[in-house]
Amino acid sequence: MQTPQRKGILTVVSGFSGSGKGTVMKLLLSAHPEYGLSISVTTRAPRQGEEDGREYFFRTKEYFEQMIAQDKLLEYAQYVENYYGTPREYVQRQLDEGRDVILEIEMQGARQVKQRFPEAVLVFITPPSIEELEKRLRGRGTETEEVVRGRLAQASKEAEAMEEYDYILPNEDGQAEKCAEDLHRIICSEHYKTDRCKDRIENFRQA
Ligand code: 5GP
Repeated sequence: MQTPQRKGILTVVSGFSGSGKGTVMKLLLSAHPEYGLSISVTTRAPRQGEEDGREYFFRTKEYFEQMIAQDKLLEYAQYVENYYGTPREYVQRQLDEGRDVILEIEMQGARQVKQRFPEAVLVFITPPSIEELEKRLRGRGTETEEVVRGRLAQASKEAEAMEEYDYILPNEDGQAEKCAEDLHRIICSEHYKTDRCKDRIENFRQA
């Protein structure tokens, strides 16, 4: 019997707006380029500096709805009046090849992934506290009082669903690198969970 092959793990990363998850993801990918980061499809317009095929695949609503009809999305959600979704094919191919894949998506999508892939690992990145989140949102200096209040209210609402995640990972101020490394360690440890080592156990039973 052949040595059992390592299977890819699907990790979902979510976090409040202001959690710094985007920075954490960039640091993780530059330190560990072996991870496959899924690029989502969205109907929202590109922001300055964003490129089609790099941050997102920017598509029309009609195109997106066709992808839904053809079952080409692993999950999708409507968020602030736009569609966001994960193309199924890329993720499936990477996992089949034994590569670990990360999806950076919001909560409704995370829930769908957990239903379809119960073995997926769900990680929620947070600032250390709501006070720190408020400080960060105000510190940006670009948001109006109304927007800050809206983001805080949204965070408090989203906190209701935090318990659906497997890990709550704090991103301390100025410690995004540590947070990225912690995320890497979580995924590494997940590979050794007994449930994921059934083939290896079976292999020893053959003796
Ligand atoms: P933004 O417009 O700021 O890039 O993203 C808005 C939200 O959409 C973020 O919380 C981001 O994680 C989430 N998001 C990005 N891609 C996807 C996706 O493919 N599916 C889902 N469900 N959410 C996504």
